[in-house]
This record gives sequence, structure tokens and C-alpha cells, in this order.
Amino acid sequence: MINLEIPKKFVPLVGQAHQVAEEVFRPISRKYDADEHAYPKELDMLAALIDGMNDGSDIGGAGAAGVRRTDNGDTGVRNGSNMSTVLGIIELCWGDVGLLLSMPRQGLGNSAIASVANDEQLERFRGKWAAMAITEPEAGSDSAAIRTTAEYDEATGEYVLNGEKIYVTSGERADLVVVWATLDRSLGRAAIKSFVVERSNPGLKLDRLEHKLGIRASDTAAFILDNCRVPRENLLGSPEVDVRRGFAGVMQTFDNTRPLVAGMAVGLTRACLELTQRLLAEAGVEVDYDKPAASQSAAAAEYLAMESDYEAARLLTLEAAWMADNAKPNSLQASMAKAKAGRTCVDVALRCVRLCGSLGFGEELLLEKWARDAKILDLFEGTQQIQLLIIARQLLGKSSAELK
Ligand SMILES: Cc1cc2nc3c(=O)[nH]c(=O)nc-3n(C[C@H](O)[C@H](O)[C@H](O)COP(=O)(O)OP(=O)(O)OC[C@H]3O[C@@H](n4cnc5c(N)ncnc54)[C@H](O)[C@@H]3O)c2cc1C
Repeated sequence: MINLEIPKKFVPLVGQAHQVAEEVFRPISRKYDADEHAYPKELDMLAALIDGMNDGSDIGGAGAAGVRRTDNGDTGVRNGSNMSTVLGIIELCWGDVGLLLSMPRQGLGNSAIASVANDEQLERFRGKWAAMAITEPEAGSDSAAIRTTAEYDEATGEYVLNGEKIYVTSGERADLVVVWATLDRSLGRAAIKSFVVERSNPGLKLDRLEHKLGIRASDTAAFILDNCRVPRENLLGSPEVDVRRGFAGVMQTFDNTRPLVAGMAVGLTRACLELTQRLLAEAGVEVDYDKPAASQSAAAAEYLAMESDYEAARLLTLEAAWMADNAKPNSLQASMAKAKAGRTCVDVALRCVRLCGSLGFGEELLLEKWARDAKILDLFEGTQQIQLLIIARQLLGKSSAELK
């Protein structure tokens, strides 16, 4: 049974992550929002500290070191790295989402490696920073439509990758890029595999860095793969094309990463709510938890409604992470958490800006920035609409071919 308290063993981690958010992230939040594409060098020291603590899996970033699902025969209830990572992320994103995404060696590619790499690969890529490159100009939500090809060269034992990848978070700064490519387009989604490409590979050419609405501390790169040669040992998972298993291998990563993105949204939502509650109190509006919302001021009633949405998003997120730790299939819950938390985050951030008026809109406080940062959390790792589609398929027992 799920226990809704923060597990005792993770209480220190939550405290440390909060301290980092408050003392490291918040003071430089504005600086790296204004100076887009500048590398937040303050994170280097922090990352080194984290590397020294439990392999970096405690107060890490989006790419947990240990979202791997292993069955160790233990039948008891577990709170493992999915839960600790999500709890850490919630606190760090209370500080700054863009800086969390910029944490060295904690990219979404690290999560993919942790989820599907074999033991030899895990060892070889340990300590590296890995970005994730799925999206292409003609393939966003429909990741099965990717056109980047991977052709096996028998003579050299290498795969040769050709194509274009866009919107790669940490693409410029990472050491590795996990690239999705197809071994044979005619075989559909089953032929899509992921390949670990060294950032220094001459065939992986940085095309540009994007300018964005929010999370400007995080770099977002576009690449051209031009006869990019990758050793066969860098293919993650099995090289066999199993049409019965379809997409399952690569999609498994999302079941681990969606609760993490939901956690980012939960942290940002709480930041907005806390600041708004303080500003409302300073303006003489107290939220009374013992009185019905309808008998309080309109601002207090709206605040209570937002807080209940926040709580629902938080609980769904914890449930999805908990299920991953306990080796329970969680695709449905991961999408529910991501959909609810992403939508709540955008909605709450904008309503807080409105409730706080000019203080919400101006640059003196961080609310206007948080409202800009919020939008991405309802977009990447699957948009709101895509999460709802996945949820509908799961509930109705329909395949992706039956419900598009
Ligand atoms: C800042 C940022 C960072 C990113 N980081 C990464 C990264 O690290 N790695 C990576 O691979 N990608 C990354 N992405 C890409 C992101 O995952 C995609 O933008 C996202 O999947 C949506 O794809 P798209 O932009 O092509 O939109 P589209 O797929 O073209 O969708 C456009 C609109 O149509 C809707 N839509 C599409 N299909 C359907 C449908 N079947 N039913 C209903 N509505 C639908 C969508 O919800 C959306 O509202 C990033 C994007 C951004 C903006």
C-alpha cells in the first residue's frame, strides 16, 4: 500500500535539495534567464558535490542514475531511486526548472541509459552527461515517424547515422547524445533503436541553439547527423527487430521520465503558490483552511482551488514514481501525472500572475518568469493532448492504431 508521508530515509535529501534550490538556484535564476545560452558555471561545483554523494542519484537532476527496474526478488514495498529523484526534483524546481535541466551529468539521456543499457554500457558511460535526441522536424508527438536512419556497416562493425534532430535539451553541453534512429523504416516502430553518440563525433554537427519563451538557462540544440559513425556496442538494448514487441523497449524510458517531468511541474506550482500566498497575506487576504471557500474572499477561494489542484498533481506524481520503484506497470499513471501536473502548473502560474497584478507581471519578483517556464512542462516528454490520448487508449484498451 502506498504511504503518503515522505519516506523517513528521504527526509534529509528533501532538505538538502530545498537548500540548494534556495541558496544556489534562486539567487542566479534571473541572471541566466537574461543571459540565454550562457553556461551556469555555478552548477559545476554543485555537480561535483553531488557526484561525491551516492553516485549522484540523490539530489540529482532529470536523469536519475537509477531509474532501472530490476527485480531483486524482494516482495516488500520499496521506495527507491524513482521516488528519491522525484522528491529531489520537486524541491529543485521550486528553485528553478531551467537550472535543474542544466545540471551536469543529469540529462534525460542519462535516464535512458540507466533504464535500458546493459552492464558493460552502464560502466562505460558512467559519469558522463547524456542528452536525448528524439524529436525531428517531421516527428514531434509522433515519435514513431522519425526519419533518422541507422545503417549497419559490416566492414567496420559500426552503425552509420543520417538525419536531423531538433530541440535537444543540453545538446551543446552534454558529453553524449542518445539518438533515436530507425534500422529499417519499412518495419515501422519496432525498428527504432537508440544509439549513444559521443558529442565529439565529427558526424554529429551542431546546427544552432534555440531562443525560447522560458527555461532559458537550459540550452536547446539542433543537430545534423551526417554519416555519423557509431560503434555497434553503443546501441542500447537489443539490435534485433522484434515486430511483436514493437516500440516497447524505447518507450519504457517514458514511464520513468514522465513522473520526473511531472515532479518539475509540482515544484514550480508550489513556488507560485507560496509566493502568491505571501503576497496575498501582505495585502490583507488571509486564506482560512477551517472555513468553506465560498464564505471567503474571491482571492482566497481561488487560492484554495489552486492548492487542491496542486495536491492532486503531487499525489498522482508520487503514485507514478512509487509504482516504478515497485516494478508495477505505470504507463497510465505516468501519463496521468504528467497531464495533471503540466496543466496545473501552467494554469496556476498564470492565475498567480493575475492575482498578484503588477507584482506578478513585473521582473522584480520571479512570478512572471515562472509563468514563462511553466509552459514547457506541459509540452516536452509528450504534450497535454498526447498524454490524454495515451490515457484514453489505456482506459479503453485500444492500440495506437485504433485510437490516433
Ligand atoms: C524547450 C524544449 C526542450 C525539448 N527537449 C527535448 C529533448 O531533450 N529531446 C527531444 O527529443 N525532444 C525535446 N523537445 C521536443 C518536444 O518533446 C516536442 O516539442 C513535443 O514532443 C511536441 O512535438 P512538436 O513540437 O513537433 O509538436 P507537434 O507534434 O507538431 O504537435 C503540435 C500540436 O498538435 C497536438 N497534437 C499532435 N498530435 C496530436 C494527436 N494525435 N491528437 C491530438 N493533438 C495532437 C500537440 O499536442 C500540439 O499541441 C523539446 C522541446 C522544447 C520546446
